[in-house]
Amino acid sequence: MSAAITLNSLVQDLKGIGEKKSQSLNKLGIFTLEDLLYFFPRRYEDRRTITSIYKIAAGMTVCIEAEVRSIRSPGSPSPSSAVLSDNTAEIRAIWFHNPYIAKILKPGYRAAFYGKAEYDEYNNAVQLVNPEFEVLYKDKKPELIGKIIPVYPATSSLKPKAVKKLVHECLANYLDLIKDFLPEYIKDKYKMRDIRDAIRILHAPANQDLWLRARNRLSFDDLFLLQAGLFMRRNLNKADNAPLMEAGENYKKFFDNLKFKPTGAQLRAINEILNDFKDASRSMNRLLQGDVGSGKTLVAAGALLAAVDSQFQAAFMAPTEILAQQHYLKLKSALEDLGVDIALLTGSLSMSERKEILKNLASGEIKILIGTHAVFSENVKFKNLGLVIIDEQHRFGVLQKQALIEKSGNLTPHVLVMTATPIPRTLTLSVFGDLDVSILDELPPGRKAIETISLTDSLDDKNKLYEIIKKYINNKNQVYWVCPLVEEGSDSKSELSSAVIRGAELTKIFSEFKIAVMHGRLSIEEKSKIMKDFADNKINILVSTVVIEVGVDVPNAALMVIEDAGQFGLAQLHQLRGRVGRGEAESMCILLTSQSTSPDGLERVKALTEISDGFELAEVDLKQRGPGEICGVRQHGVTEFRTANLVRDIKILNIARKEAKDLIERDPELKTEPLLRAEIMRRLGDELKLAETA
Ligand code: ADP
Ligand code: MG
Repeated sequence: MSAAITLNSLVQDLKGIGEKKSQSLNKLGIFTLEDLLYFFPRRYEDRRTITSIYKIAAGMTVCIEAEVRSIRSPGSPSPSSAVLSDNTAEIRAIWFHNPYIAKILKPGYRAAFYGKAEYDEYNNAVQLVNPEFEVLYKDKKPELIGKIIPVYPATSSLKPKAVKKLVHECLANYLDLIKDFLPEYIKDKYKMRDIRDAIRILHAPANQDLWLRARNRLSFDDLFLLQAGLFMRRNLNKADNAPLMEAGENYKKFFDNLKFKPTGAQLRAINEILNDFKDASRSMNRLLQGDVGSGKTLVAAGALLAAVDSQFQAAFMAPTEILAQQHYLKLKSALEDLGVDIALLTGSLSMSERKEILKNLASGEIKILIGTHAVFSENVKFKNLGLVIIDEQHRFGVLQKQALIEKSGNLTPHVLVMTATPIPRTLTLSVFGDLDVSILDELPPGRKAIETISLTDSLDDKNKLYEIIKKYINNKNQVYWVCPLVEEGSDSKSELSSAVIRGAELTKIFSEFKIAVMHGRLSIEEKSKIMKDFADNKINILVSTVVIEVGVDVPNAALMVIEDAGQFGLAQLHQLRGRVGRGEAESMCILLTSQSTSPDGLERVKALTEISDGFELAEVDLKQRGPGEICGVRQHGVTEFRTANLVRDIKILNIARKEAKDLIERDPELKTEPLLRAEIMRRLGDELKLAETA
């Protein structure tokens, strides 16, 4: 007599699952009945289209419905074969290692077949090789064809079909044990299906649209439960003491003077930030994610000015000196008329300059401090720091951010982190590290696609490259030329020299053009002089190391040449490419490869020539680097997602987060949603240590 079956019942306690099977299931990570119900297909075969035999060509994988004309099973080692016919043509099918076929398939039977067509030299004809088949009795609907067939992960001892049979039996018997825990109003609002429907659909989708919506529903579950759990967890922590800030005069003037209209996405992000500023019980902790060129800096400027308007200081940090400098110059000119004191702090200031800045910072005179990691150094003290913005976050460690937060006395400043790449770490942070996310999913109007091509180092290609460069410069546009990375172990000197050598070479080739070389060894004065000259169009070609990788914004530069492009990562290439396409001109990015470019490198170059969207590239990136690295959900020891994918589902994450936040704010203990509460405690209670709220 076995106890009643629940979702937590172990698979070996289910009818028909013995010791051996349950061991195989365990290997697949399936331990309980619930695991089995949520064990989704690895892929699907679309067998909806029945092909007429006369259309079959070698290489096609087809479904056919046909009559068996004749069948031969001479016995091993000869293959069995059959002649099949529909009213359009005949085709031969052969099966290796299946001498019993003639016992099942008889002449005159109607049957369904699914398999690959291959060319058979011996018979000079196309034939089906080892097709799956199913005899079609009179009133029986085919199981094998006419629909989408799920294919499950399997082990050596438990084949995909056996897994499928098991899962589908459990669906038939036990799916009702799953209770829909999602609040009704959320399901209504987003037109979501019942959880049982969604699960059933993922196991046997009728079409792609249904499948997608079902998957989104379950991904929402994953993300919503986690977010709700995190907000419950957050309620357990003591409240912050956050600066209360709002937009005022400076903010208004800045936007009034703006030469362009902010995009809808920019306005949305700014509003989300201003909203966070109104909550004195909790500091903002927000990630601003937007593809290269989406205009993150404007959002940052809005936030900085709201801080200044509210009599707080703000710090804006960039990953490189060049970028810090650029932010500084742009903001300074925008703030000129407003009388807001702004300063630049980098590692290469003189002692006295630095001292002066530190003094004015401590007194509160300087309102906005822009800098590199120098801003983190110990002796930098603020009077009343209200906001920290970190640009291109992946260059900064999380710990450093903590150090900065500790700089601001008894108030915890608001933090905005900006990034172009949905890299795993930012995503894990957004899920596990209490980050809210704003997305710029809209580029400023008038942006044209950046034509991206690859060229080799052949003489022909070189000439082509030089022609293109000339064309751009004669058209009054400017060119970036990025030099290769240097092999690991060699010092920065050789990187420097590769840029210097290339600069000299190009100077010879293009004697009529002005060429400058920039690398990490130059002083900040030298670098900023070059950047300023480049911005003023006094330099035609800027040869540089990757120091210009992120953030640099010179709209008149329209051609990007990247040497030895295969050496760079996808995200990096996308960042580099994003330096062009910022102005009126048609822009172009040329990726140079050579004999020595690795196959992986060639693949990345190819991806870049085909894909312009940063999100899509990030997915390719994750695929190339393997799922092991995806978002480190496992490594973090917090919950495993059933269907959610943090790169793909970032929009769902945001909705889930917003809904979870609203709900927990309204009903912190989920008294109105007992099923939801029970599900959160069941799935996450231990990991998030939620027991204290019980
Ligand atoms: P990123 O998100 O890569 O940091 P930036 O903030 O550098 O992008 O902006 C890219 C360029 O687009 C800049 O030249 C900026 O002045 C311009 N820009 C930003 N927002 C808008 C807008 N709403 N309309 C037109 N141009 C914009
Ligand atoms: Mg930027």
